[in-house]
Amino acid sequence: MADRMQTGPVLILGEDAQRTSGRDAREMNVTAAKAVAEAIRTTLGPRGMDKMLVDSMGDVVITNDGVTILKEMDIEHPAATMVVEVAETQEDETGDGTTSAVILAGELLKRAEDLLEQGVHPTVVARGYRLASEEAWNVLESKSYPVEEAGLLTEIAQTAMTGKGAEAAKEALSELVVTAVRAVKDEEEIDLSNVTVEAVVGGGISDSELVEGVVVDKERADDNMPWQVEDANIALIDTPIEVRETETDTSVSVTDPDQLTTFVEREETQLREMVERITDSGANVVFCQKGIDDMAQHLLAERGILAVRRTKASDMKHLARATGGRVASSLDDIDPTDLGEAGIVGERDVAGDTMIFVEECDNPKSVTLLLRGGTEHVVEEVERAVHDGLGVVRVTLLDGQVLPGGGAPETALALAIRDYADSVGGREQLAVEAFADAMEAIPRTLAENAGVGPIDALTDLRSQHDAEEENAGLDAETGEVTDMLDAGVVEPLRVKTQAIQSATDAAELLLRIDDVISAGDLGKSGGDEEPGMGDMGGMGGMGGPM
Ligand code: ADP
Ligand code: MG
Repeated sequence: MADRMQTGPVLILGEDAQRTSGRDAREMNVTAAKAVAEAIRTTLGPRGMDKMLVDSMGDVVITNDGVTILKEMDIEHPAATMVVEVAETQEDETGDGTTSAVILAGELLKRAEDLLEQGVHPTVVARGYRLASEEAWNVLESKSYPVEEAGLLTEIAQTAMTGKGAEAAKEALSELVVTAVRAVKDEEEIDLSNVTVEAVVGGGISDSELVEGVVVDKERADDNMPWQVEDANIALIDTPIEVRETETDTSVSVTDPDQLTTFVEREETQLREMVERITDSGANVVFCQKGIDDMAQHLLAERGILAVRRTKASDMKHLARATGGRVASSLDDIDPTDLGEAGIVGERDVAGDTMIFVEECDNPKSVTLLLRGGTEHVVEEVERAVHDGLGVVRVTLLDGQVLPGGGAPETALALAIRDYADSVGGREQLAVEAFADAMEAIPRTLAENAGVGPIDALTDLRSQHDAEEENAGLDAETGEVTDMLDAGVVEPLRVKTQAIQSATDAAELLLRIDDVISAGDLGKSGGDEEPGMGDMGGMGGMGGPM
């Protein structure tokens, strides 16, 4: 037996497979993950810079938004992808804080690397980080404020939208955002898909408006219909206003002209009956998800009804929520109580396009934000800013807890967790301290990006927090350390807790890996000739031996 075991190496991997183990594996992963954080750190905060991303088709995106940058970057390294996931989770859970979450993850890994070099075992670092993150959660909760005052909501929206191309109309936009989220709030949940964001090129950002209802990208079915109806009673119909036979391939053979007349008359009678049912319900506006026969259009026009055909299913859903109507799936059961209501329904010209506006709905549960901007890139970035704004207002309304921004909570965390480290024995203590140091990456980066000396800023922040100034943060506009609540820089608690949670999770995951085995085929397709990554500044080391 023993002899046979010694007859040469045992191969368990395919010929082309690559394997990196132990320290090398960890170094490779940490380097890749840090590179991702490095790539977006200059975008943090109101004074952060933007990135211009060009894809292989030549399409250009200009943005300051962390998760957008990372998605557009087409990152392939598996460890780097874990960090991109941090940003994606952050985006899904809160809608903001993606750059911060990634910077924290990079910083935790960087400091872990130092500890590993000093001989601390990776699982000890991971455990220390876990303990520290649990403590961080408690600290943040204890420092948060309940948001009772309505005023704070617009400030929260504004803080999230700062530095993202919406600057010119930040105040007005944040009002719109708050009104929109409030409107679509249901008892327990807030589903932001009920805020439709329409980005229209043309006009300026300040021409943006909130439509208390729905904008349907359609025109009236017939020019003889009224172009506008006030005090609209709206029928929502998802069955065709057509005579069925003509829809299918049924052929009717007629042998003499009388028969044809009867046939046409019968069809006309049926259409008349359909239109009659609609008018009987009291409707003066019709949105039909399917087609409307020409004859029926004519009849509807005669009766002064504004009708729209082939309305998108998603628009139908929004119309129902906005107008309080119910979608009828048969013309037989249209009841006056099914009709939705709107103050006004009519065609409007939006930057050269005709659209139907259903506006002035009473208590609409679906609204539309019509964003305007001079160029496509401007509106797109405004749209991303508005999405961040919607996200933070939503979580604030759900959780009701907020924190000052500008690096205040991170400074507080660094101090509190350094204290806490003393109570943690053993080598984990080193990791807890490293975690505390990592938190200060946020105020430091904010200072750097604002062109303020980071050392002075951090010293100032620490001393103010030591003096119980818990809301002291760096005002990036003035470069001063001041009370962030007074300065109106406010963020939801959940943005901070989630960032710490996902950053810690990712760091822990990567630290526990000590073996990277990639199958041969993967190695070939994602190998050295991979374009793109080499061009990104600070991405060195990404093309590792994967
Ligand atoms: P993220 O993707 O992490 O949200 P941002 O670029 O939006 O990145 O920057 C968020 C950070 O900027 C937060 O720490 C927030 O508190 C801070 N911030 C926002 N407005 C200001 C301000 N006026 N002064 C200082 N810090 C601010
Ligand atoms: Mg943000």
